[in-house]
Amino acid sequence: MKNDCLFCAIAAGEIPSNKVYEDDLCYGFYDIDPQAPTHFLVIPKEHISSVAAVSAENSAVVAHIFEVIAKVTKELGLESYRVVSNIGEQAGQSVFHLHFHVLSGRDMTWPPG
Ligand code: 5GP
Ligand code: ZN
Repeated sequence: MKNDCLFCAIAAGEIPSNKVYEDDLCYGFYDIDPQAPTHFLVIPKEHISSVAAVSAENSAVVAHIFEVIAKVTKELGLESYRVVSNIGEQAGQSVFHLHFHVLSGRDMTWPPG
């Protein structure tokens, strides 16, 4: 756990959140500022700062998170959704702990803004 990391604190239960999924490796919770009717985040419990810090040593958790996204979206009955990860400030990253946004329930445009 990294000091002063908001999502490390959320994964550890030190800051409350609205949980949608949890196991030993990852934690899923609803976004505090939803950008779609359904908007949740899935994060590794281990601190990884972004996709840019994924390596051969830590990438297994990323595959696991995608399995979790497939499972949870099925359980929620979501047939169409978008998975997004922002890397760096210019792309819109505001929390520097790896997270995958899962957005669903409205029409979406392409390319993203
Ligand atoms: P980013 O901007 O880094 O791609 O995504 C960070 C996301 O975390 C944003 O969508 C923001 O609304 C969400 N967020 C920031 N602080 C909190 C919080 O304390 N609780 C929850 N549930 N979401 C948060
Ligand atoms: Zn962290």
